[in-house]
Amino acid sequence: MNLHEYQGKELLKSYGVKIQEGIVAETDAEAVAAAKKIKELYNSDWCVIKAQIHAGGRGKGGGVKLAKSPEQAGQIADDILGMMLKTPQTPPEGKLVRKVLVAQDVFYPGASDPKEFYISILTDRGRGCNVIIYSPDGGMDIEKVAEETPERVFTENIDPLLGLRPFQAQKVAFNLGLSGQAYKEMVDFVQKLYAAFVGSDASLFEINPCLKTSDDRIIAVDAKVALDDNGLFRHPNLEALRDTSEEDPVDVEARTHDLNYVKLDGNVGCMVNGAGLAMATMDLIQLSGGEPANFLDVGGTADAQRVENAMRIILKDPHVKAILINIFGGIVRCDRVAQGVVDAYHTIGNIPVPVIVRLQGTNADLGKKIIDESGLKVYGAVEFQEAADLVKKVLMG
Ligand code: GDP
Ligand code: MN
Repeated sequence: MNLHEYQGKELLKSYGVKIQEGIVAETDAEAVAAAKKIKELYNSDWCVIKAQIHAGGRGKGGGVKLAKSPEQAGQIADDILGMMLKTPQTPPEGKLVRKVLVAQDVFYPGASDPKEFYISILTDRGRGCNVIIYSPDGGMDIEKVAEETPERVFTENIDPLLGLRPFQAQKVAFNLGLSGQAYKEMVDFVQKLYAAFVGSDASLFEINPCLKTSDDRIIAVDAKVALDDNGLFRHPNLEALRDTSEEDPVDVEARTHDLNYVKLDGNVGCMVNGAGLAMATMDLIQLSGGEPANFLDVGGTADAQRVENAMRIILKDPHVKAILINIFGGIVRCDRVAQGVVDAYHTIGNIPVPVIVRLQGTNADLGKKIIDESGLKVYGAVEFQEAADLVKKVLMG
């Protein structure tokens, strides 16, 4: 689950990480009021208006703008709110901006120049640990830095059992070229950031830029936060931050029915009980000349209601030319599943694509009999290969 910048920053702040403060606004009038409040709190007329969408690269797309007065903040907010913001990370048509963050300007001049760093923390499944990736050359061109000067991007592996050790946080601050007060602040920043990452069961934190202000404070100016869906049950307060308007409507529907659904690019929809069997089924489809349109695990209780919900979700994808239902009856009885398929057929009404049902395990033969005798355009199979051949046959027409 992804958070908006303003939500990510609140999460960081709750762990003591210093952030660029701001106030969320949904109208230009709210933006003016927010800018006045910012002026009062931080004694500066300037503020930054930042589009809140689930995509980065907003600065490049015109979604981050400096305002030099509360009135101007209102004008800029008026321009940004309601726009389809296009960035390198949005779909081609862009994303609708529903909220802006009115943030304090933190790039003011002082004893030294402000400096932008890049710091991210993520779970590296290959290495089996968390890693901190960081660079002294942060800011909007970090992709170019990674490509052209990869030696300027550093990596620190964190042992999940030992956690972040103090010398590692010190190494980060050192490699970022800091000294004195800024060095101390950075060590503290990295430690708190890591505590926030572990404490929220996150899978990604990306702070770009992490800013050294001209008076040597270290603050998070941006926060891209992705949380591990499997850890969300431990954080109802974070789960509550979900913005479904930013998510794919089909994913949202699948989640409300508690189905594990991942859309893919192929033409054969699959409905399977168990993730391992689902993977094997996707291989089977591929081997028989098709391409899986999705991964869908209906879970252990493949009852009629779940079969129907899953069928509806699969059918939302216009690329689906056939559906393969592959169920292993362990605890679940195949005749029940078969009846579920027949029932779903009647309730949904018109299912425009052929459906192949392979049932194996408890009462498999009885299940196949129900399918075969239903009189519907459903093909029953018992063996894996039989199902594969049927997929091939229906795809070839
Ligand atoms: P992103 O483009 O989606 O990653 O959005 P960011 O939050 O990273 O903002 C983009 C850029 O806006 C930053 O890299 C900064 O250069 C600039 N920016 C952000 N906050 C401020 C600010 O307070 N003052 C000024 N002058 N620039 C800012
Ligand atoms: Mn950024």
